Amino acid sequence: MISLYNEYYAIDFDKCPDNLPYTKLEEIKEDEIENLKYAIKVEIKNDFESNIKILKNLLFIVNSDKVTDFYSPYDNKKIRFIIKNYSNSLIKALQALLIKDEKTRVEFLYDYLCDYLDILWNEKNPCQFDENSSCIAQRMKVAPHEMHGCCYSFNYTKNPMTFITKSEICQYLACGKGCTEKNLSCKIFVCK
Ligand code: SF4
Ligand code: SF4
Repeated sequence: MISLYNEYYAIDFDKCPDNLPYTKLEEIKEDEIENLKYAIKVEIKNDFESNIKILKNLLFIVNSDKVTDFYSPYDNKKIRFIIKNYSNSLIKALQALLIKDEKTRVEFLYDYLCDYLDILWNEKNPCQFDENSSCIAQRMKVAPHEMHGCCYSFNYTKNPMTFITKSEICQYLACGKGCTEKNLSCKIFVCK
């Protein structure tokens, strides 16, 4: 069983008891939405566009004023979704769409994306940092510094000859830990 948000859970379709009642997402009609009573069965496809549509439909249903509470009781828990072919990212998306407050939902997703990118960058090392903390651009001598990639802070100047000033290593770069700041725009930056 997968904890989602507040008292709600999701369960893997393949581990779901046969007698647990549910409603298939594709069978929910907008004009009958107020009758929704049991967990929604969600089958994730191998297709990005279809999955976006699924999540949009779920967001609409969960936030509809016509829908009160819906879940299937199992093991003293409230099962809100029965899911098939899911991934960690899908679980995060389901957790996010149960957060009613938009600001809190965006903060949740922002933090998740920052953590996701940190893990991805550590695993894949797309900038090809070596043991001397030099990235591929620095070894090719096409970056302004010799170490620590582009993790430098600076101020812009009005002087067109210098363009920037006060360039120094970013205060959030920690030795051996990489970036310690949740800054999404920084984390998605690549020079080429
Ligand atoms: S994005 Fe930054 S760290 Fe990565 S290769 Fe380019 S200069 Fe180096
Ligand atoms: S915030 Fe993080 S990614 Fe951005 S420059 Fe600083 S250490 Fe690098």
